[in-house]
Amino acid sequence: MPEIRDPRPAEGLRPVINVSGTMTSLGASMVVPEAIRAVREFLPHFVEMADLQRKASAVIAGATGGEAGVVTASASAGVSQTVAALMVGTDLAAAERLPDVSGLPRDEVIMQLGHLVNYGAPIDQSVRLTGARLRLCGTATETGEYQLAGSLTDRTAAGLYVVSHHVVNYGQLSLPAFARVCHSRGVPVIVDAASEYDLRGFLAAGADVAIYSGHKFLGGPTAGIVAGPREIIRAVYLQSHALGRGMKVGKEGVIGVMAALRAWKNRDHADVRARENGYLELWRGRLSGLPGLTPVICPDPTGNPLSRLRVRVDPDRAGITAWDLADRLAGGDPPVIVRDHEVELGYFFLDPCNLHPGEERLVADRIGEECARAASEPVRSCLDERNRRRTEAMLRWPD
Ligand SMILES: *Cc1c(COP(=O)(O)O)cnc(C)c1O
Repeated sequence: MPEIRDPRPAEGLRPVINVSGTMTSLGASMVVPEAIRAVREFLPHFVEMADLQRKASAVIAGATGGEAGVVTASASAGVSQTVAALMVGTDLAAAERLPDVSGLPRDEVIMQLGHLVNYGAPIDQSVRLTGARLRLCGTATETGEYQLAGSLTDRTAAGLYVVSHHVVNYGQLSLPAFARVCHSRGVPVIVDAASEYDLRGFLAAGADVAIYSGHKFLGGPTAGIVAGPREIIRAVYLQSHALGRGMKVGKEGVIGVMAALRAWKNRDHADVRARENGYLELWRGRLSGLPGLTPVICPDPTGNPLSRLRVRVDPDRAGITAWDLADRLAGGDPPVIVRDHEVELGYFFLDPCNLHPGEERLVADRIGEECARAASEPVRSCLDERNRRRTEAMLRWPD
């Protein structure tokens, strides 16, 4: 591949190195060359969007095993449009009345409490903004089939099941169990599988609708993918003439996702995995030599075929806490953004999936530099204050 010019400095943007994962806040993923090419070719031309989505439907069906598919603005938009679709079907007048749900026979969505995640926004909001009421079953740490069964009513329009490292990872109903109980009452099941590599497994395991992000593992432009039965997908598509309008996906999103799905099929996954594992081994070797750092290679918690390096930081020996090290890496030159959503537990992760060649060494170098600095000037900030600072910084935007 030819060397790509880095356009960031000219805009005054920091050239961040992403060992965090495919994060919306960092621009999601590196878009694959096939999708870049398709987007570039289509941008100057007009297309009939209904036709383009019809072609996308066939590509999504081929990739997922669903009957049909549609591209949305994001997985989050996919959840909203699917919930809306399951309340109003193809009734366009009812679709235009949303979020007014009066007169609709079904206007409730059921979720397990332990699935109530925040992926940058609270998932319940993507349900509620349609007008649907969210009903929660079970407790944060445990849901039984009887609790789900007891929470379904004649007004339940859908069950929403989340597959994510963010959900409580024990005590939750399996997808087949969740789907079995929902289906026994005629309730369709939506699976939010935004970050999951498995494009066929959730539909195969009993989901009626599976939703993915176009811009995560697939390396497409920002978009969502909704796959499922033709009747439901048609109703999801029709929401683009109603509440989905404010979540519009453009031709670049649709063609980019089509290209990314095709590229995914042709990708040499073993080769990608071998390269990522090489980064992990390099980091583990370099970091295990640093006092107070304990690097361990951990498989992805939801079973995606990837591993990450968990770096436990003992502040007494390293002279720095895990969060201070994360912050110093983020504030450094070049900025290195680690995966720190569990940092209060004393560790962060390094994710190997989004690196340009050579960046893996810069990551190891920067961690070594910050550890050496901490050895002579120890730092141990209060985590609560750090969290407050981050919220304040968010509220100050654009300064
Ligand atoms: C990332 C993510 C989302 C949001 O996906 P977008 O396509 O960015 O809207 C939703 N659910 C889960 C489980 C996610 O991981």
